[in-house]
Amino acid sequence: MKLLILDLDETLIHATDCYLDRDPDFEVGPYAVYKRPGLDLFLSKVRSQFHLAVWTSSTRLYAAPVVENIFPHDVDLKFVWSRERCTMRFDPEHHDYEWAKNLDKLKRRGYKLEHVLMLDDTPAKLARHYGNLVRVKPFLGNLADRELFQLSDYLPTLAETPNVRRIEKRFWRKASTSEP
Ligand SMILES: [Mg+2]
Repeated sequence: MKLLILDLDETLIHATDCYLDRDPDFEVGPYAVYKRPGLDLFLSKVRSQFHLAVWTSSTRLYAAPVVENIFPHDVDLKFVWSRERCTMRFDPEHHDYEWAKNLDKLKRRGYKLEHVLMLDDTPAKLARHYGNLVRVKPFLGNLADRELFQLSDYLPTLAETPNVRRIEKRFWRKASTSEP
């Protein structure tokens, strides 16, 4: 079974220190946290098709309660990695430093990158591993967002492919069935 690594902020949730026009789904410290539409359904679908893990560039202190709140309690997450597992790197495109997620770290854990997918809204964080990326639009609280519904249709098409890195994934929305 392939490993699907999920980013948190702006991919599965949006956390903000000023409330949106509605009550948040939950709060973590000073942050109001809003779940992306379709999150529960999305997780219930992908958990049967992939091994799941979380990798966020936010702190462990923040990530742990978010994970606690959004995943069903019987989900077996392979790991929850936070900033401590990221690498500071200069992003030439934005002339700024970025916490990068170096997927080579997975190889040391015995994972083959041909079998690893990463769901993330920030491509710069993937640095040299774009082949593993399924890029999502950043979620900033819009209730009309349909990204996770479409991904529920699209991701299963990658579950059986021998090498996910060989598949062109930049135009995945066209391959999904929920929207033309
Ligand atoms: Mg993100």
